[in-house]
Amino acid sequence: MRVSLNSQIFLGALIGVGLGLSFAQIGVETPAVKQAIYGFSLLGTLFIDLLKMVLVPLVFTSIAVGVANLRLHSQLHRVWLFTLGFFVLSMALAIALGLSAANLFEPGKGLSLDLFHNASQNFTAKQMSFAEFGASFLHGLFVNPFKALAEANVLAIVVFALFLGVALVVGGERYRNILQLMQEGLELMLRLVGWIMHLAPLGIMALLAQLLATQNPELLSSLAKFVAVVIVTTLLHGFVVLPLLLFAVTRISPQRFFRGSREALLTAFATSSSSATLPVTLRCVEQHLHVKPSIAGFVVPLGATVNMDGTALYEAAAALFVANLAGIELDFTQQLIVCFTTMIAAIGAPGIPSAGMVTMVMVLQSVGLPAEAVAILLPIDRLLDTVRTMVNVEGDMIGSLVVQEMVGE
Ligand code: ASP
Repeated sequence: MRVSLNSQIFLGALIGVGLGLSFAQIGVETPAVKQAIYGFSLLGTLFIDLLKMVLVPLVFTSIAVGVANLRLHSQLHRVWLFTLGFFVLSMALAIALGLSAANLFEPGKGLSLDLFHNASQNFTAKQMSFAEFGASFLHGLFVNPFKALAEANVLAIVVFALFLGVALVVGGERYRNILQLMQEGLELMLRLVGWIMHLAPLGIMALLAQLLATQNPELLSSLAKFVAVVIVTTLLHGFVVLPLLLFAVTRISPQRFFRGSREALLTAFATSSSSATLPVTLRCVEQHLHVKPSIAGFVVPLGATVNMDGTALYEAAAALFVANLAGIELDFTQQLIVCFTTMIAAIGAPGIPSAGMVTMVMVLQSVGLPAEAVAILLPIDRLLDTVRTMVNVEGDMIGSLVVQEMVGE
């Protein structure tokens, strides 16, 4: 009997969780467990490395070809508009949900920052004002393409490939050969992704086992309420709000969507990186969910670095959590500032593990909260990053389906 790759991945994830929990029970210092965790970390890293290997050529060719295939100018214009509109709308919904949940359940009330004195004492937050952040974000958009490609700077690659795609459209027939070359390059990359995916069940198992074995239970229990509020709200956004939005626009049922997107969601959960997951996301969207390559190739890579619902929700809730810890009441205007900076922070965060933690500093500082509080959030971040990355990637896939429908493809 042949088990489908989808089921193998699911099974791998379950076994990984089981193994991780057993390792934690036995104790991570036991020599045999130590060795097993070492082996798993090698295997997990290998899987992520392979995905990253194809990431850069894949993003580059997929955006350039995607844009070039949107031949008609009016169509290109509409795709842009609907894509950005969807990104802003879904992130705004996520932020509203995160803030409402944090206002309702008030995690952190009753605890105090002093409890975490040791954590925050040895930590100096990098100062990052809003203006500085904006300047460095803009500056990072236009980069020497060879440098961006070599450094795997996804956002800068996206921007250059967009320009190239538009030039290919404008040039038309004249550049037919280059377009064909890129198209074939893209097909080749997707073939490599197909091969790498055979390792996904093992890679995901290894990553999850390692993650669960190395959590600190004491810390988790002292922050249990916050962790629970963030996880439940993020899942609510991912399993209720986004599927409803999808259904309202496209009439695609949640079952159909989740069946087609499972590989990418589990990979995102295990790797905590939208960028590393991108090859899998594109594959799911084009092959299982049947989004046209011209739409998927544009929306998904852009979304992987710009559209982050999970991160936006998390940062908004975390800002209120830190305010509660510090005993500061944020009024309505301050919460609006949090909404705004959170959106910018989520857009600016690259799709790598714990990227949200770096841009979190800016959100805290925008309303005068102590940036050192990030030190309290860091140790639990690896755990929370799993669910938020999964929802980040889900948002990109739903975005491509919604845009396809709105453009009338
Ligand atoms: N890890 C997230 C992602 O790759 C970003 C974040 O830290 O929130 O989507």
